[in-house]
Parts: sequence; C-alpha cells; structure tokens
Amino acid sequence: MNHPFLDLAPLSAAHFAAIEDRVARLLSTSQDVVITQGEALLPLEGAIRGAAGPGTTALNVITGPYGQTFGDWLRDCGATVHDLAVPFHTAVTAAQVREALAEHPEIDFVSLVHAEAATGNTNPVAQIGEAVREHGALFYLDAVASIGAEPVLPDAWGVDLCVIGAQKAMGGPAGVSAVSVSERAWARMAANPHAPRRSYLSLLDWKERWVDAGRTVLPHAPAQLEMLALEACVERIEAEGLETVTARHASAAAATRAGALALGGGLEPYVYEASDAAPVATTLRTPPGVDAAGVVGRALASDPTLPLAAGGGPLASSMIRVNHYGAAADEAVVDRCLAALRTALTTA
Ligand SMILES: *Cc1c(COP(=O)(O)O)cnc(C)c1O
Repeated sequence: MNHPFLDLAPLSAAHFAAIEDRVARLLSTSQDVVITQGEALLPLEGAIRGAAGPGTTALNVITGPYGQTFGDWLRDCGATVHDLAVPFHTAVTAAQVREALAEHPEIDFVSLVHAEAATGNTNPVAQIGEAVREHGALFYLDAVASIGAEPVLPDAWGVDLCVIGAQKAMGGPAGVSAVSVSERAWARMAANPHAPRRSYLSLLDWKERWVDAGRTVLPHAPAQLEMLALEACVERIEAEGLETVTARHASAAAATRAGALALGGGLEPYVYEASDAAPVATTLRTPPGVDAAGVVGRALASDPTLPLAAGGGPLASSMIRVNHYGAAADEAVVDRCLAALRTALTTA
C-alpha cells in the first residue's frame, strides 16, 4: 500500500545541496552551510566539540539555559571557560563583552545565544560581533530561536559558527538543523586534534566527505522526510518574504507585551526593556503569590492548542511563556492566549 510518508523517490545529492543553498540564502551567507540531520542540539554540540579543546580559552555568555549547556560542553572539551552571566530579565551588552575580553586577553572563542525562547530575551549580536572581531576570537552563535523571527546575518556580524533550527520561527521540522561555518572556523577545527572524527558530531567529516568532495555523493542516507519538510518551510518563507515573516513575529511580541500589561491581572513582561525582548516568544512574570504553572494549566485546560508554557525548572512558579512563533506569530492567536490568561488569572 502506498503511503505519503513512505515509498518516496530517493533524495539526490543535488537536491540536498540545493536545499543547503536555499538555507544559505536565508542567512545571506557565502560561508559553507552544512545541514545536520538531527535536532539543533546536534550542530550546537558538534560545533563546540569541533572548535574547542584544551588549548581554548572561551568567553561563554549566559542569558538563559542554553548558555549554561554550552559552558558545560566547553569545560568537557578541556577549555578554560570564563562565564559572563546576566540576569534573565535583560540582554548582555557589547560593553560587557568588551570588558570581559579586555580582562582576559587570551580568550579565543566566544559563545552566545542570540535569542532565548526559554527566557524571552534577545542579544545585540551586531554590536557584540564587532567587539569579538576586534579581539580576533572565533564567534559561535545559537540562532535557533531567532532565525525567522529577527534578522540573522552571520557574514555581516562576523559569526564563524551560526547554528539554526527550523522548528521555531521558521515553522518547520525539528529533526533537521544547519550550521554556517567560516574558513576560520574550519581551520580551527582542522587544527584541533580533539575535534570529533568518524562521529555523528563531526562537522569535519562533512567537510571532507561532502563539501570538499564537491557535494556530489551523500556520505549517509539523507533524512528524507525532514529534508523535504525543511525545503517546504524555506519555500513558504520565501513566498511570504523573510521580512514579512520577521515583522509578523515582531508584531506578535509587541501585541503580547502590550496586551499582558493591559490585562489588569498583575502580569508584567519578564524582560524589562522591550528592546531586550525576543520577537520569538514573550515571557511574563506572574504577581507574587500567583503560581505561573497553575495559570498556564488552567489556560491550557480551556484550550490545549494555545502556545503557552510555564517557565522551565525554578522559573515554573513565576514565568509564563507565550510562544508566538511560526504559525502562532499571529495577532488572533495572541488575542486568544491573552483572553485565556485573563480567565485563568481570575479563577485562581
Ligand atoms: C529551542 C532552542 C534550541 C533547540 O532546542 P530544543 O530544546 O529542541 O527546542 C536551541 N537553542 C535555543 C536558544 C532555543 O531556543
């Protein structure tokens, strides 16, 4: 019996390469773009393990849970790590990064999360990139939660390793991701004896067996359904226009922020300054004594399709996340979220 997900024609190397080129255009990059066949944690970890080793001194910026994870990986690679942690209600500034670089001139790797869906903040990557470039360090960026929701420009910003995933603002599949890699980053990995080789985490394997080999023969069977879904999602973004897609996310964020304040239930934006708030998701702070997880639970009981979540871990009691990304970056969806939150707050 035929099934739409099964019995597909094989995905050719040329098709795979064409999808990579399309993702590169979405990033306005002329760097190599490698599509990684797994959730975004795969290239996030692969890029760190490839580029960092015992000789690395890293500045790891922590503005949410992912920054913490990157610091753990870097330490596990043997790198010396200087953490720059800022409170989750704000963004890191280029001045703070500059100061940390001046304090530790030996830093040769900087890791940063662009936007954090989990904490709702976004960082000024263009200005930070300037500081990192002046210092000469390799610049690693997690743009999973920003791509599609706001501009992501690795070449203009001097990002050497820019990781994206399709499952947030791109409105695409979660099982495939990508990383753009600069010449400098490839050189750093090639010189790193600890970089993974013959491993699922190895970006160098893909360089050697795919990029440098002219992208004519795929090293492994491609994740066909995910690749087709990625292609469809990029096609849909191209049809709508990337700028229209990012504007839709910015509007949803602004409407959520303004609407939450207007609710009257004591909800406040978790991120103090609107300019530090991520367009991908808006985090809200519940008033003292009001359990965020309880509010979200009641709102979801009224409509389980709403893109609402409580904050992770210790934030579950005080943070509500409105995940207005992908198809949910829509003012009607935001209005339904706010109405459900209003009811949930009054029935506490
Ligand atoms: C969502 C996200 C990822 C991807 O991780 P998941 O836990 O699978 O969603 C990576 N980095 C950031 C900053 C994200 O927001």
